[in-house]
Amino acid sequence: MFRWLSAAIDGQDRGRLEDAFRWLYTFVRPQSKAIMGLMLLSVFASALVLLQPWLTKLLIDDGLLAKDYGMLVTMSVAMILVGVISTGLSGINRYLHTQLSGKILFSLREHLYAHLQTLSPQFFGGRRIGDILSRLDGDVSQIQRFAVDSMFSALSSVLGLVGALVLLVTLSWKLSLLVLVLIPLEILWLRWMRRKVERQTRIIRERSADLSSFLVETLPAMKFIQAVSQEKRESRKLNRLSDSYLTDLLKLQVTEFFTQAIPGTLTSLTRATAFLIGGYWVIEGQWQLGSLIAFSTYLGMATGPVQSLLGLYVAIQRMSVSLDRVMDLRRAEPDITAPEHPAKLADDMSGEICFDRVSFSYQGRSAPILDHASTVFPAGASIALIGPSGVGKSTLIDLLMRYYDPEQGRVLIDGVNLKQLAPMELRKRVALVSQDITLFRGTLMENIRYAAPEASDAQVQAATDQAQLTELIESLPMGLETPLGERGSQLSGGQKQRVAIARAILQKPAILILDEATSAVDEATEAEVIANVNRIFAGKTRILISHRASTLSGVDLRIELNSGLLVAENTLPEAE
Ligand code: ADP
Repeated sequence: MFRWLSAAIDGQDRGRLEDAFRWLYTFVRPQSKAIMGLMLLSVFASALVLLQPWLTKLLIDDGLLAKDYGMLVTMSVAMILVGVISTGLSGINRYLHTQLSGKILFSLREHLYAHLQTLSPQFFGGRRIGDILSRLDGDVSQIQRFAVDSMFSALSSVLGLVGALVLLVTLSWKLSLLVLVLIPLEILWLRWMRRKVERQTRIIRERSADLSSFLVETLPAMKFIQAVSQEKRESRKLNRLSDSYLTDLLKLQVTEFFTQAIPGTLTSLTRATAFLIGGYWVIEGQWQLGSLIAFSTYLGMATGPVQSLLGLYVAIQRMSVSLDRVMDLRRAEPDITAPEHPAKLADDMSGEICFDRVSFSYQGRSAPILDHASTVFPAGASIALIGPSGVGKSTLIDLLMRYYDPEQGRVLIDGVNLKQLAPMELRKRVALVSQDITLFRGTLMENIRYAAPEASDAQVQAATDQAQLTELIESLPMGLETPLGERGSQLSGGQKQRVAIARAILQKPAILILDEATSAVDEATEAEVIANVNRIFAGKTRILISHRASTLSGVDLRIELNSGLLVAENTLPEAE
């Protein structure tokens, strides 16, 4: 089945597609009961559709022309019944169909989202968010549409085609020969158009990704764009993107039009020919009028399914483009994974961090950020991590949070190699307050609780007091329940940073990192914040990164990162 599907597709790696179909099937399989039920309904509905013209034939030939009143009434009642049942069935069918395709769509998307959550910042840094968005949205829907809609349309097409062919031959085998000419012609045409449609569809998907990326990137940056008066330029960019999208969309429309129009015309021609020959027979008295009318209806019914079956080719092309784009996300491997038997950190861990001959460099960059660097961040101390901008301090923190693993050497916390820890276990114990603070849409309360959703109201209250948020909360119309705008745009840099500190307090970490966290506030406020942090997190390991000498004056130890090496200098007088 998978081989058959992938063989239907040109221009792509077959083995890769087979894998993709197999993956897709894992989402369809759990729904097999619902699918069987819907299939039965479809069989029934197709049979009813096929019955209608036959009733018309009986009504005309045995009722009207034979002047049989009883037959007339019976056929009319039968037609009403078939009509009512068909309508009812189509309602039920549509409901179940939506339910089924919704389930498949949502489980696909949830699965992908969960997968994205395991990927490193490197992955997100290298991709346009708009592009990921368009894959998760448009492409996933495209796949779902194929997985469900096309499957059922194929089934009812096959049933309709076989049924209509049988009835055509029953009515007149000679006229049925027309279909033998028609169908191969249609098949040849649609096969020829297929590749074109596939190529143009891929372009359209890419254009749509360009557009979403543009919006995702520029909307949050509106203030900056206004500040540098580049609104017109961005508008022109959008204009260009829309234009090229529209041009390609129209090209696809034209291609799709011809893909459909030629078979449509062929069908009309065949039908006219059937009327001409069949009509002649009727006039000559060799054939009945009802049969001619039924024949022409079945002719339409036979070519419709051929078109939709071949349209399925087009659908497979479209879908395979989307499937490949989605699989591209699926194939991205997480750089960081939990070991099979992860180690645990003790509840009362001390928070000692040890870098043991650690080397690390970014892919594609020649200069190593860390080059056999070794040092110890003693448990419970406050440590300044210093070094010029761009030397790799944030990278070192990323290694500590296990966003990356070192190429060589080990990073240890309380003697446990980070590679032996599940990332979640580690990150729960390390709180990071960085320069750019992530706030979500939601209330202030929800934002403060983000890292520790189980924290009680009293704990939140205590944390906000300690983080000196009380004044802000009192000034807000609804206090802690005030909704924050998009990304907390109503808060100042200093206020955001206090929210982050309140968050960190609730997280109860063993290690606290302030990465340029206080650069947004003045020196006096900063000194106050640092004093507070030292009070609240006394006894925990605290790492401070800052360029201000005043921030770093009261620390127990300074560690300098320079040329890939870590050098510790004790700032306290020697004990002896
Ligand atoms: P610091 O925090 O000391 O200012 P960083 O750790 O942010 O320094 O960056 C160290 C170096 O690594 C810089 O030269 C920076 O350009 C580079 N760098 C940072 N992040 C990446 C990345 N994701 N990919 C490639 N290079 C990076």
